[in-house]
Amino acid sequence: MKSAPPRIAVIGGGLAGLVAADRLLGAGLPVTIFEKFPEAGGLVGVVNVGGTPLERYYHHLFTSDVDYVSFAKEFGLEGDLVWLKSRMGFLSGGKLYDFGTPASLIGFTPLGIRGRLEFALSTLKLRHDADWRSLEGETAMGWMRRNGYGRALDAVWGPLLRQKYGRRAEDVGLVWLWGKIFLRTRSRDKTGLGERLGYLKGSFGRGIAAVLARVKERGGDVRTSRPVRIVKRSGSGFDVTSAGSAGAAEAFDLVLSTVAIPELLRLAPDLPEETRKTWSAISYSHALCPILELDRSLSPYYWLNVGDDSMPFGGVIEHTNFIPKEEYGGRHVVYISNYVLPDDPKWRKRDEDLWAEYLPALRIINPAFDASWILAKQIGRAEYAQPIIVPHYSKLLPPLQTPVEGLWSACMAQTYPEDRGQNYAIRIGREAADAIVASLK
Ligand SMILES: Cc1cc2nc3c(=O)[nH]c(=O)nc-3n(C[C@H](O)[C@H](O)[C@H](O)COP(=O)(O)OP(=O)(O)OC[C@H]3O[C@@H](n4cnc5c(N)ncnc54)[C@H](O)[C@@H]3O)c2cc1C
Repeated sequence: MKSAPPRIAVIGGGLAGLVAADRLLGAGLPVTIFEKFPEAGGLVGVVNVGGTPLERYYHHLFTSDVDYVSFAKEFGLEGDLVWLKSRMGFLSGGKLYDFGTPASLIGFTPLGIRGRLEFALSTLKLRHDADWRSLEGETAMGWMRRNGYGRALDAVWGPLLRQKYGRRAEDVGLVWLWGKIFLRTRSRDKTGLGERLGYLKGSFGRGIAAVLARVKERGGDVRTSRPVRIVKRSGSGFDVTSAGSAGAAEAFDLVLSTVAIPELLRLAPDLPEETRKTWSAISYSHALCPILELDRSLSPYYWLNVGDDSMPFGGVIEHTNFIPKEEYGGRHVVYISNYVLPDDPKWRKRDEDLWAEYLPALRIINPAFDASWILAKQIGRAEYAQPIIVPHYSKLLPPLQTPVEGLWSACMAQTYPEDRGQNYAIRIGREAADAIVASLK
């Protein structure tokens, strides 16, 4: 008699977990997904604006996101991917500048002439350096200083790194910056002057909906509002206890975790001490992501970098300068990007206290801005939203198969040297499923 296939628990119903589950089911393996929140989708969750779904956290694709394109093809969504020009700006010293193209660099006076040269040289150097391993030992800021790019660091990279990583900015590895520049410059059009970014008409939530539907069609058991509390080794498998199971553990043969590493360390007490020690050095920023629906436009830019330490946020993304406002019932949609370290008291602030910081600062971007422009507003909060990539990160990098046999992990902190992104969530979800299937042969 043929033995029953191993039962697999996938922890986390974000894109990586869904893609992995779909593939495992496709290989004939029974899968149960445990998702903490009432809806699957994780960081690609959506809200509703003017009757249209909109990402809770701003999202676009780069032209280098080939795995997303193949995923869209797989689910018949490729025809709805659009590649649009976008305009990038930079706020410095209270003024707005065009940014991100060679032509705009000429007018970017905060850098001075020497600084513009430094900026161009540092960008070119990283853009053409395909060997990221040779960059592993350095921090981004250290590399800038060592190479005499101090002006570019002071005016551009320093403020942007501090906005995203707070006091950890000095620790960010050069490989992270390399990834940003290498990928971003590959998203230019053929002239090298403009950038095209991708969007899925109707929101990236459609990608989630498509893969979720197939997971269900293939017999996947998707349990939402079921945070996993503990995963413990038991015989040759695992006992998985989740909220809602009334304290009773369920038996699985294999477990694939897609949650952040600090969460996995908490869930899986069987991980050996040495692994815990190494992985506890993996840290993250959390994201506060306010969304404003306005009756008029705030700035001419889609992506506005805020390179000013005195501002309470690091970016303003006016989504409707990318996707027409008509899609959202004529409303102008503006995201504020504000990363904070987990121990930052700001993370625990109430919405009204956060708005009291954010709204006056929008006047620096547009002096005419007035609260009466606001039709609706809300604040998204994402834990473990951005892994902090430190020098020699490859020494920390968790493998897909953890040291506990049968316990696998595929999360955002494992897509190194690439940064997080839907593309890499798909890639690592596929890789993890394939590795699990291969391990069973
Ligand atoms: C502000 C922001 C902007 C972004 N912009 C872009 C962009 O422009 N383009 C792009 O491609 N990507 C972007 N991303 C990144 C992209 O959203 C992620 O890389 C991708 O969604 C990660 O998918 P994932 O499945 O690995 O993780 P997640 O989406 O985090 O999924 C993990 C899931 O695990 C669940 N979970 C956690 N703990 C438990 C538990 N104990 N039990 C059960 N479930 C649990 C969570 O609720 C979540 O659903 C952005 C992210 C953020 C935060």
